[in-house]
Amino acid sequence: MKIRLRKIISLFLILIMIAPLTVKAEETTYGQFLDDLAKAEKQLANNKNSINNAKGQITTDNATITKLKSDIEEFSKEQTKLQEEIIESNKDIEKKKEQTKSIITYYQVSKGENVYLDYVFGGETITDVVYRLAIVEQITEYNDKVMDELRELIKKNEAKKQELKEKEKQYEQKIEALNNEISKLNNKVSQLGDLSPGLEQEVEAKKSLVNFYKDQGCRNRSDVIGRDCAVGTSNGIFFRPIKKGYITSFIGYRWGSLHRGLDIGSPDGRSTPLYSIGYGRITSIWRDGNGANNVNVEYYKNGVYYTAIYAHMSRYGNIYNNMSVTPNTILGYMGDTGYAFGVHLHLELWPCRLYVDSNCRTWDKYTAYVKKLYDSGKSRGAETYISFPSRTYQYWYNK
Ligand SMILES: [Zn+2]
Repeated sequence: MKIRLRKIISLFLILIMIAPLTVKAEETTYGQFLDDLAKAEKQLANNKNSINNAKGQITTDNATITKLKSDIEEFSKEQTKLQEEIIESNKDIEKKKEQTKSIITYYQVSKGENVYLDYVFGGETITDVVYRLAIVEQITEYNDKVMDELRELIKKNEAKKQELKEKEKQYEQKIEALNNEISKLNNKVSQLGDLSPGLEQEVEAKKSLVNFYKDQGCRNRSDVIGRDCAVGTSNGIFFRPIKKGYITSFIGYRWGSLHRGLDIGSPDGRSTPLYSIGYGRITSIWRDGNGANNVNVEYYKNGVYYTAIYAHMSRYGNIYNNMSVTPNTILGYMGDTGYAFGVHLHLELWPCRLYVDSNCRTWDKYTAYVKKLYDSGKSRGAETYISFPSRTYQYWYNK
């Protein structure tokens, strides 16, 4: 099981080491950086737009809610009014009923046949009876009509009340839906708001990159970085070790230990000459435990001693120990001797005289000292003293 796992891991490591080397590096133009910046700016603007739209919608929703609430209040008032009308109408009906009753009593007639009995037994004249009957009939008829109208009114009011109640319910549901929408929009605003600083930083970073290339002489969209513009080595105190190449891996922690050197690739592979990065002296031409051909060169610059280690060479140049070298001296050729997963130059460069200064008198002291320099941020080795593109697989075209 353990062996299998190790096999899988090694295969994985080989794949990730080899894959980038087989990638065909394309020429990067100034226009690509401009496009990158424009894209980031557009993203930021879109984000801001979305936030503003959501905020606008929240304001609209809140206004709608206020309006709905005031409508509901109106409905409620109207219902009270309708109820009052119903009560009044009922009272009126009762009154009319009373009125009819008292009229009948007054004229001593009631519905039915007793009026005729009165006539038969009371000795009243037929004219009287007919006259009284006519009055009573007229008034009761009129009252009945009024009462019918009132009942109709009550019915209408009840229906209207019901309608208003329904409307109230609908409006309350609308308010609830709007409140839900508002809370969703608030979430959206806060999520989009969280994105903003990152997008702003991205825009700033891309802007400074564009400005950097502009300062380095890039003018036209078609300008190739490293060939038409940004070809200078103004930032470095040493030259680059090859004329045309790219970084495949920077200095930093890798699988728990510090990768002390820059890994540099070239389209010319094993035939790529490796030049000394400055004026110095060869201190060691050596083969390590894994069979890598390496050369150490000591440099002295602005009062500081540096040691450079050039590793994995396929073969050496015409060099010998203690030889004085210049930026035109070919130390050897790029290779993959030793522990390497592809043809590349592993270049270490740290401010210490290897095997001489007390900080790096032994190999162990050297690696510990380098780690200390790196961890404290005092130096990033070759990245600090030589000007390289800031990204992997970005070409340069001269030393
Ligand atoms: Zn390396």
